[in-house]
Amino acid sequence: MKFISTRNQVPPVSFRTAVEHGLAPDGGLYIPDTLPDLKPYLKDWETLSYVELCQAFFAFFATDIPKEDLDLIIEQSYLHFEDPSIAPIRKLEDQLLVLELFHGPTLAFKDFALQLLGNFYEYQIRESGRKISVLGATSGDTGAAAIHGLLGKEGVTSFILYPDGRISPLQERQMTCTGAANVFPLAIQGSFDDAQTAMKTVFQDRTFAEKVGLSAVNSINLARILAQCVYYLSAFLRLPKDQRESFTFVVPTGNFGNVLAGWMVQQMGVPIKGFRVATNQNDILHRLFETGVYAQEQVAPSLAPSMDIQVASNFERFLYYSVHGDSELVRSIMHEFKTTGQYIFKEFNADTFSSSRTLDSEIASIIRSVYKDYGYVIDPHTACGFTDINSEPSLILSTAHPAKFPDTIEQAIGIDVLHPSLEEFKSKAIVKYAVDPTPEAIKAFMLERVS
Ligand SMILES: *Cc1c(COP(=O)(O)O)cnc(C)c1O
Repeated sequence: MKFISTRNQVPPVSFRTAVEHGLAPDGGLYIPDTLPDLKPYLKDWETLSYVELCQAFFAFFATDIPKEDLDLIIEQSYLHFEDPSIAPIRKLEDQLLVLELFHGPTLAFKDFALQLLGNFYEYQIRESGRKISVLGATSGDTGAAAIHGLLGKEGVTSFILYPDGRISPLQERQMTCTGAANVFPLAIQGSFDDAQTAMKTVFQDRTFAEKVGLSAVNSINLARILAQCVYYLSAFLRLPKDQRESFTFVVPTGNFGNVLAGWMVQQMGVPIKGFRVATNQNDILHRLFETGVYAQEQVAPSLAPSMDIQVASNFERFLYYSVHGDSELVRSIMHEFKTTGQYIFKEFNADTFSSSRTLDSEIASIIRSVYKDYGYVIDPHTACGFTDINSEPSLILSTAHPAKFPDTIEQAIGIDVLHPSLEEFKSKAIVKYAVDPTPEAIKAFMLERVS
């Protein structure tokens, strides 16, 4: 299989190249040139373990990696999850289920993709002999998950931009207390969007990119989206058989990476009923799905910081499919959005999506009522998924472990939630670097560390 750019100004590439580059050189995002039809396989896949399902799924895409190698890469990527089923489903009521995606090493759903991406990089470096510099921007959890996915990988140097003071103290500790020599957490003054914009500009400097072997770990990297597809598939297959097609998947959303993966699984013939995009007070996507207007506003820091995003990178992939692969139109819409901060869709057809918004003032009371009704503790991101829950069958994706956000939980229900993997960081020294959120400053910092 080949991978094409949403902006269609570069030739198609293989899976390994798409993963190695992350962002396409024309500024677009890679997508598969065709989507396989998975429907005929679903019956056989019902009995597979999570890892086996992941292996079967990736075999359609990673066609330039020999099957034995691919299987091993995948097997190793899920060894450090603390639940044997990797992504367990919790039943709160018959029609209200929670898909727990926080049993990986950094306790957020990002581990599903970044453990795997780390192993893909390692493989690619071994095969090509070229070193890789990873550059990412994080609203909290990606950075931690990326750093832990890449820790100790020979030939990889990681640079992670994050908005100083706007992520939770424990998220910061997960990134800055690793003691690893090849990891550089870069604290910038500004928002996640500022970090992401600077990062994208760095990627457009092709000479620089070649020189340092630049790769993107953000959810613009296709391998991440594909890795996330697997838990949708796995959850779908574990729903009660006669009700599979009646469950809506509710997804706490920021950069549109998580829910895009679910939507792509649906496009591959898996009959998921639909998706609800659950935003926090940074509600660009909620407004889009309600009104057809995609308009950027200022980011307002919230209690669910990993969703404090106004420019959802992965929206471009969805857009490409929505305009039936008209790359010229994608380019012009993205250009207009970039220059004016807004795009008004004349017709915006997104039937399978609904959306909701949760204000900060609502998060604590949701955590409280879920705890009271079910004795179940949810984190502030997952809480956004509980807004507008009605009697329709819902599967809520729980994106982080509550122990990552102890202050919010304490305030809501008076309970100290702890997790041993977080405790160990509390005594370690924080190592971070202050860098201006400009492409020049970031490039200069990287060059000094890489050469
Ligand atoms: C990253 C993240 C989100 C948002 O996911 P997107 O793919 O950016 O939409 C939601 N919750 C948590 C805990 C996250 O880390």
